Amino acid sequence: CGIIGCVGRGSETLDTLVHGLSKLEYRGYDSAGVAMADERVSLCKKSGKIEDLRDALESATLSGSVGIGHTRWSTHGPPTDANSHPHQDCQGDVAVVHNGIIENYQSLRDELVAAGHTFTSDTDTEVVPHLIEDALAEGAEPEAAFRQAIARLEGSYAIAAVVAGTEAIFAARHDSPLVLGLDDGATYLASDVPAFRDFTDQVVYLADGEFARLDDAGWEVTDSDGVSVEKDVDTIEWDP
Ligand code: GLU
Repeated sequence: CGIIGCVGRGSETLDTLVHGLSKLEYRGYDSAGVAMADERVSLCKKSGKIEDLRDALESATLSGSVGIGHTRWSTHGPPTDANSHPHQDCQGDVAVVHNGIIENYQSLRDELVAAGHTFTSDTDTEVVPHLIEDALAEGAEPEAAFRQAIARLEGSYAIAAVVAGTEAIFAARHDSPLVLGLDDGATYLASDVPAFRDFTDQVVYLADGEFARLDDAGWEVTDSDGVSVEKDVDTIEWDP
């Protein structure tokens, strides 16, 4: 139901993600979780309130300076810890958050299970990290692997992913909102502006079918062919 991501917040990354999730609470949710990436992907997720996630984080060890977070409003599978986002691939090298519904998830899941993938949730979302894992295993670079996975999806989605060893967030949207927030040295990604409004008022709205890459060098929006898209930067006038 809600997505937050940030790059460039250093040791503040985890706090920034949880703060962003708390600002998205108004959208309603039944579970929450966060994932961060450095050489590995680490994550923590819980059904229940953001307070429950905060409690779980006290005994978790997440590291990295890029991260994604999610508040879930269940559509496929009950609100359990296992069904909470982020979702991972078999190796644990990929973490994905998703708003929306992947209409063709059952056929993708059948195909992936037949190819040897093991699923740990009931969600439609979990096909995405496994598709990325397959593309990585075939030698694709992380961004290309993400694009190949998204190209397989039908339905509505705002999706963000992190990959171990890559200090970047990859995102895409179709029929579900995503907006970037631009600050000096930091870039944010969210389903709605309040998630990062305490940090910046400079925003870039993604259009349907667009992709975004956020990393230390900044941000880039591309179309489905990978061609750079010139985007307007808007200034938000209202206060959080
Ligand atoms: N369909 C996904 C699920 O049930 C995402 C739901 C959402 O938008 O929060 O986990």
